[in-house]
Amino acid sequence: MEIVCLDLEGVLVPEIWVNFAELTGIEELRATTRDVPDYDQLMRFRLGVLDQHKLGIRDIEKVISELRPLDGAVDFLAALRSRYQVVILSDTFYEFATPLMAQLGWPTLFCHRLEVDAGGRIIDYKLRLSDHKRKAVEAFKRLNFRTVAAGDSYNDTSMLAEADTGILFSPPQNVIDEFPQFQVTRTYAELRAAIDAAAGR
Ligand SMILES: [Mg+2]
Repeated sequence: MEIVCLDLEGVLVPEIWVNFAELTGIEELRATTRDVPDYDQLMRFRLGVLDQHKLGIRDIEKVISELRPLDGAVDFLAALRSRYQVVILSDTFYEFATPLMAQLGWPTLFCHRLEVDAGGRIIDYKLRLSDHKRKAVEAFKRLNFRTVAAGDSYNDTSMLAEADTGILFSPPQNVIDEFPQFQVTRTYAELRAAIDAAAGR
């Protein structure tokens, strides 16, 4: 019995913060962990910028609902879910992901949560669990699932290493160079073939 664990951003939907910066024209929100390596510092910075621009959760949802899943993602995911149990493991927040989950047909998503006050102002963020992608895969293995995981980035590599089969999807070259042990796929057809091969189908 297999379970497929997929990263969200860069695999099924575009990078949420980058697109949010583009749609709102707020350049500072383009900063990623490449610019500010400390994740907590980066999140505090982002929340401060949202506050300066008086952007509450409703404004953010409106902007994010303009985003669309990557080309082919809806069909890929629907077909995958008809054959496998699929769980999306992401480091985003439910409040950001919800408009995109609606477009993806409400797949199961494990991620984190924002703390929002009664007026819709984001006051904090709560990581449900650190390194949760890897820990989820580890837990699924203990539940006697054969695990296949796919992601595009550094924050997926511990999950890919933990899984019975780890697959990179459209990764940047530096990730390919640093993690040559993982198969690289670039299209949904390739990813699906790699998943089927891992599952022995
Ligand atoms: Mg990603």
